[in-house]
Amino acid sequence: MEKWFAKPGSGHQEPLSKLRIGIPRVLNIWSTHQFWIELFTALGIGKGGLVFSSETSEQQYRDFGQGRGTVDCCYPVKCMAGHYGELLYGQKRKIDILFSPMIYSLPSFLQGYVKDSLACPRVMSAPENIKAGFLREQDLFAELGIQYVAPMVSLGEPQLAAKQLFEAFASVIPGLTRHQINHSVDRAYAALANFDHQLRSKSREILAECAASGTPCLLVLGRAYHMDPGIGHEIETELQAQGYPVLWGQYLPTDEDILDWLFGAEIADGIIGSPLDISDVWRSSYSANTNEILWAAKFAARMPWIACVVRLSSYECGMDQPTYTPVQAVTECSGTLFFSFQDLDSTKPAGSVKIRVETIAYYLERYAKQIVQRKMARLSPQSPMPCLVNELTQVVAASAATEPNC
Ligand code: SF4
Repeated sequence: MEKWFAKPGSGHQEPLSKLRIGIPRVLNIWSTHQFWIELFTALGIGKGGLVFSSETSEQQYRDFGQGRGTVDCCYPVKCMAGHYGELLYGQKRKIDILFSPMIYSLPSFLQGYVKDSLACPRVMSAPENIKAGFLREQDLFAELGIQYVAPMVSLGEPQLAAKQLFEAFASVIPGLTRHQINHSVDRAYAALANFDHQLRSKSREILAECAASGTPCLLVLGRAYHMDPGIGHEIETELQAQGYPVLWGQYLPTDEDILDWLFGAEIADGIIGSPLDISDVWRSSYSANTNEILWAAKFAARMPWIACVVRLSSYECGMDQPTYTPVQAVTECSGTLFFSFQDLDSTKPAGSVKIRVETIAYYLERYAKQIVQRKMARLSPQSPMPCLVNELTQVVAASAATEPNC
């Protein structure tokens, strides 16, 4: 196991409060940033001591990452070279440490209902892959006096993660104790859970507003890093500009009342064992992100106000390919509209994105109310969410009187 941990390198002797740590804003950092921020805060990083690279852009890659690629890989991993380069030689104030965790597994609300909660293998190995590009001609880290710290971290297993982080930081933080790291890791998990809770609550609020106003919404199904404008091309922003609220697949509400309402009948019929069970649609449930995408598709298929699902995936994504068909089938069998933007890479074809977004808006305008009405009819009228459902029932009754069936 030792070989997986970063080598001690030069080793800084200064306290953490005096160091600057750079973290590439890439891949699963997009869903775990609150963990890392709180971890380093609890360990005593100084003000301004933690710096994230900027969002992905062509300029960033041209200026800092070009020529640093090592193996042909998917687009989000390829972009990491620009982030590494920006942190290494694009800072006004030099960083002391480049911290790029090899995230092996992820915390997930589906843990216990799925086979595992692993990160994509390319995500796990990406730091090693990208680092090699900066060692090719000479060791740029050594030349710039920057320590490279890239521990394997099993974020899906808190006790193991604490052990891994202790071993990784022993060479970075003088006098670090196991008690300190355990305490800091606990705080980091709490911060991540709190952030997650806030976003899920926000999604619930959006659904309540949709019910109150009779406005359908869209669900974007992608990976967390598709929020990066250079990776996801801000497609969700374009959709929102059409006047429809947008929910993000990773942050759907998981409150008991909503889940009972959506999945209760299937549990009673013995089709699934829990609202979080995805074994009916996805048996190979090893990947945390993939599991959550499948679950979100199930949620969207049942939630009346989600009238449309928009799937995003990146160029050469081997993880997403096997899920295209099940995700589309789960969504469409409920009558929910489904559109996808696949193979996203550095080209942002603004014209064609605009046309496709306008097409989605046209379909929503034409069919959304009927979709909501039909989905509503399948759910129990004895709703555990009476405030939402009463509002929706009035909206549906009003629209049924004026709209033709599609
Ligand atoms: S999920 Fe797909 S795009 Fe993302 S890192 Fe893995 S292979 Fe690459």
